[in-house]
Amino acid sequence: MTGPSVKSLIRSPLPFVFAALIIASPSFGQQQFVESPYKTVPITNIKPQGWLRDQLQIMKSGSTGHLDEVHTKIAVDNGWLGGKGDGWEETPYWLDGAVPLAYLMDDAALKTKVLKYINWTINNQRPSGYFGPITKAEREGGKKITESNCEEGEDWWPKMIMLKVLQQYYSATGDKRVISFMTNYFNYQKKVLDKCPVGKWTEWATSRGADNVMIAQWLYTITKDASLLDLAQKIESQSFTWSTWLGNRDWVMNAAANQTDSNWMSRHAVNIGMALKSPAVNYQRTGDDKYLRALKTGWNDLMLLHGLPMGIFSGDEDLHGNDPTQGVELCAIVEAMYSMEEILAITGDIQYIDALERMTFNAPPTQTTDDYNMKQYFQIANQVQVSRGVFDFSLPFDRQMNNVFGLRSGYTCCTANMHQGWTKFASHLWYSTEGNGLAALVYAPNELKTTIGKEERTIKETTNYPFDDQITFSFSTKKDVALPLKLRIPSWCKEATVLLNGQLLRSEKGGQVIVLSRTWKNNDKLVLQLPMTITTSNWAKNSRTIERGPLVFALKLGERWEKGNEPKEGDYFSVYPTEDWNYGLLEETIKDPSTFRAVVQPLSSPFVWNQKNAPVTITAKARKIPGWKVVDGVAHQPVTDRNGIYKGQVDDKIETITLIPYGFTKVRIVAFPVVK
Ligand SMILES: [Zn+2]
Repeated sequence: MTGPSVKSLIRSPLPFVFAALIIASPSFGQQQFVESPYKTVPITNIKPQGWLRDQLQIMKSGSTGHLDEVHTKIAVDNGWLGGKGDGWEETPYWLDGAVPLAYLMDDAALKTKVLKYINWTINNQRPSGYFGPITKAEREGGKKITESNCEEGEDWWPKMIMLKVLQQYYSATGDKRVISFMTNYFNYQKKVLDKCPVGKWTEWATSRGADNVMIAQWLYTITKDASLLDLAQKIESQSFTWSTWLGNRDWVMNAAANQTDSNWMSRHAVNIGMALKSPAVNYQRTGDDKYLRALKTGWNDLMLLHGLPMGIFSGDEDLHGNDPTQGVELCAIVEAMYSMEEILAITGDIQYIDALERMTFNAPPTQTTDDYNMKQYFQIANQVQVSRGVFDFSLPFDRQMNNVFGLRSGYTCCTANMHQGWTKFASHLWYSTEGNGLAALVYAPNELKTTIGKEERTIKETTNYPFDDQITFSFSTKKDVALPLKLRIPSWCKEATVLLNGQLLRSEKGGQVIVLSRTWKNNDKLVLQLPMTITTSNWAKNSRTIERGPLVFALKLGERWEKGNEPKEGDYFSVYPTEDWNYGLLEETIKDPSTFRAVVQPLSSPFVWNQKNAPVTITAKARKIPGWKVVDGVAHQPVTDRNGIYKGQVDDKIETITLIPYGFTKVRIVAFPVVK
């Protein structure tokens, strides 16, 4: 092993040896491995606070902390504990969120719980390096999987998730067993992939190979074993060619036009959420800019042709155009969030950092219940009711349960996978950078503890962001410390100000990451002010969405919850509005968004994402559109002329409507028609 020791790389985020940003890889000819400008810090260094801590606490008391008790597939005779029960994706999915939660919250009970699965997985790695649940052949034939009988192994895909689980466990604990475990496994993959390629068992593995590539490259940054890059290249060559598809525009256009059974895995939104990271990890391995261009083209095209106001592309289950009546699967959202967290670390591109905040603060909270025990498989942007039905989804399912709230409704991938959303967002609130530096690129309340040399330093980030526009960083340090602090000024912010101990330090334009290189003293207080003006954005069918900072706003509606039961999918809830929702926004107000006013209130304690506790309200002038009604559970967007104005009948009466952040609604309009 060469380069920084494992210990210095992982246990302490700061004292890195950043000899050069680009490190030549001996076995890779002209290609060069690109060191990430932003590196993750150990999970245990970040302590979520404020509203984010409340959210994680709810998850700990709810399904994230207890899925192994309430979800039969995981609870009974679990394959990842040596049993004959489920040994595929749902247990590692759950751990992918439960492991970071256990360490972010420093929760002894949850650590004990997740360690059972981690220890079983590590202790039962076969001598060949193969790992995972006991295979059918092993159980029946008594012969362990080796490189000579790899065809008797099972699907590569769920192992890709378990690798991510172990990587996070390592970040939290520094347990060196993870490094030898992964080294052995990747050695096994190197030997058998010609005979047992990525797609041998399922197309899920072929479509999600980038996650395998990513972890092989992560291990390379620790062990500097260049053969890991050859392995990464091999896995990439056997997987879906996402980088090419994202860069070539015919893929995204075909996905907008065709909703057939052919090639649907390449249009499946969860696969795409995961695949976004593929060009970035390929760029990291090779240093070839073509991958960054492919990602930019692909992301812009995706959001142009399939984008929805809450910052995510449609996917019900497949990409399905940009009509606000399309749905999106919860897995697609949390996977896209994680991809963005990886992409921004590798590229530092502010477009993806803004995109990460927009999808995080709007899309996921609406799709789970207050207690985090139920979820919707698909949410709809303009969701005027949550109900059973056959909507215009590419996968409607016979039992019509895709849109309701339930633990097991729709499909249970999201029941298991949703836990990684908030937890990984929290563990990516800080990155370490060159020269002992630190970077806060996305914002939420937390406390960072870091060690430089032997000195422990704390930076407390106090804020109600994204609801409020001020973020305060308070330094605690026994000795003065020189370090560059990088902060992102979001693109939506016209001009930010930075104050140090009450004195104006800098004013900066939005759309950049600024560097504050100075010697920080104990009790230094740095205030970042990000003024949020209200703007509007254009979406499908000439609809408009009102925005403030990273939040999009939706019509506030009273809710009536109705309990139901479906014999196979269990208890569920439908939600209906108790008020009229069929409003169009007045053109005169859209023309001058400065007339809108936001009222910001203190956050609820404890904080909950629901309609009653929305901390920001915006009022707007509107008229009702009497002909805009629910048809088969859906509010199809009213037609407009070229100027974007609805020309049908509207009420004479002008009314004042109240909008709240999208994440606090369950039933809503977010993409409004415009009326005279
Ligand atoms: Zn799912």
